[in-house]
Amino acid sequence: MSSFAPDTRYDVDLFVIGGGSGGVRAARIAAGYGARVRIAEEYRFGGTCVIRGCVPKKLFVYAARFAGEFADAAGFGWTVEGARFDWPTLIANKDKEITRLEAAYRANLDRAGVEMVAQRAVVEGPHAVRLADGTVVTAGTILIATGAHPNLGIDIPGRELAITSNEALQLPRLPRRIVIQGGGYIALEFASVFAALGAQVTVVHRGDKLLRGFDEEVRDHLAKEMAQHGVAFAFGTTIEGIYEAGEAGKRVRLSDGRDLFADEVMLAIGRVPNVIGLGLDAAGVELNANGAITVDAASRTSVPSIYAVGDVTDRVALTPVAIREGHAFADAVFGGKPWAVNYEVIPTAVFTEPEVGVVGLSEAQARAQGRRLDIYKTDFRPLKATLSGSPSRVFMKLVVDQASDTVLGLHLIGEASAEIVQLAAVALNLGASKADFDRTMALHPSSAEELVTMR
Ligand code: NDP
Repeated sequence: MSSFAPDTRYDVDLFVIGGGSGGVRAARIAAGYGARVRIAEEYRFGGTCVIRGCVPKKLFVYAARFAGEFADAAGFGWTVEGARFDWPTLIANKDKEITRLEAAYRANLDRAGVEMVAQRAVVEGPHAVRLADGTVVTAGTILIATGAHPNLGIDIPGRELAITSNEALQLPRLPRRIVIQGGGYIALEFASVFAALGAQVTVVHRGDKLLRGFDEEVRDHLAKEMAQHGVAFAFGTTIEGIYEAGEAGKRVRLSDGRDLFADEVMLAIGRVPNVIGLGLDAAGVELNANGAITVDAASRTSVPSIYAVGDVTDRVALTPVAIREGHAFADAVFGGKPWAVNYEVIPTAVFTEPEVGVVGLSEAQARAQGRRLDIYKTDFRPLKATLSGSPSRVFMKLVVDQASDTVLGLHLIGEASAEIVQLAAVALNLGASKADFDRTMALHPSSAEELVTMR
């Protein structure tokens, strides 16, 4: 498919800054079109998702879920004796897998003919990049895919005592007690993991509900379920200070005057685009009010030869979105085949215990569009719970446009919600109606069958 004619006025046709999901995809696709591509990564290829995000997190989630499985097993006749969890084993095996994946990323880039630079690179001008060793590389096009980092922007005494998700994935020992601030994806996923592994977990959240932007009933149901799974919540309050407290660990002062004691305090209060020191100002690359790079629908920045994809652009901070953005960019700029990333139907999951899977609009979002809605929902005890005795209940909700019968949103909480929602997203993408769901034969016995039998 080599179709791009290299522009020899420049050292390379594409210089990618950042070896994460978006940057790597763009580099490989561009190279496939015959572009001369160089990619700089200052840390490890793979980026947030592979090195300190989705992948290690999901491995932790798997580790944590054995606890529930062992507990459930008794009702089915099993005696699980002597089950013990060893944190260092999990960390070591996780690290080995991340190292393997990083090597696979490098091998794929190498096979694609992309030149890798293990250095920090910054923008020097519309067509130039400066490496940490001082080398200047000229490029026809520059792609910024530097991602984001945990927000530490709260000014409280003892902030340096807090960890973020980066450190949580590397702790030398499993904390006995952990306080986590935040009510979003990261806070809740780590809360579930640590609670299942036996830690005493308190989530401190400034709001009175978790997961802002999610359907209200999902927010309510999840809080109830997580509490049942051992996570304590302190709503309507924030951490005001963290203090060393000797044998008691760390004292966490809350704005409501309470003190909590913990071995670790974790901040999960959002992520900040990596733009500092990248030379963007001098090059004329504009940022938006959130400090993210402003881009148009084609991922082009305010400088025509500079593009940006992924979390640094603050569109939708999800790996598959960054990958699509990187792919679309390379197809358009180097393959002459522009296409638009579909931001309309983005399935997403929160890997809590139980897990949340969502695609499409919440009830409130759909109503805000002025639509009349039919709401279908169910809340039931899954078959497995009848013998396991687990009090967990599955929640499902369909948001349907009354006028067209189109399913606008699908919201699940329960086992395998992520897996179910991935496929349900295909139906929503096709514009499926409630009638389409209804004439789909149920698969029995499953939880997902409820989606095609709701009245
Ligand atoms: P989120 O934006 O999801 O949540 C941030 C949380 O922190 C919110 O509850 C917010 O409260 C709270 N918060 C923000 N600022 C402050 C503050 N100054 N003081 C106290 N609380 C504050 O961010 P995360 O860090 O959890 O995750 C970042 C992004 O990464 C996610 O939005 C998601 O796109 C992605 N991600 C996706 C995952 C997945 O797909 N499974 C997993 C992990 C991350 P409020 O609600 O009041 O604003």
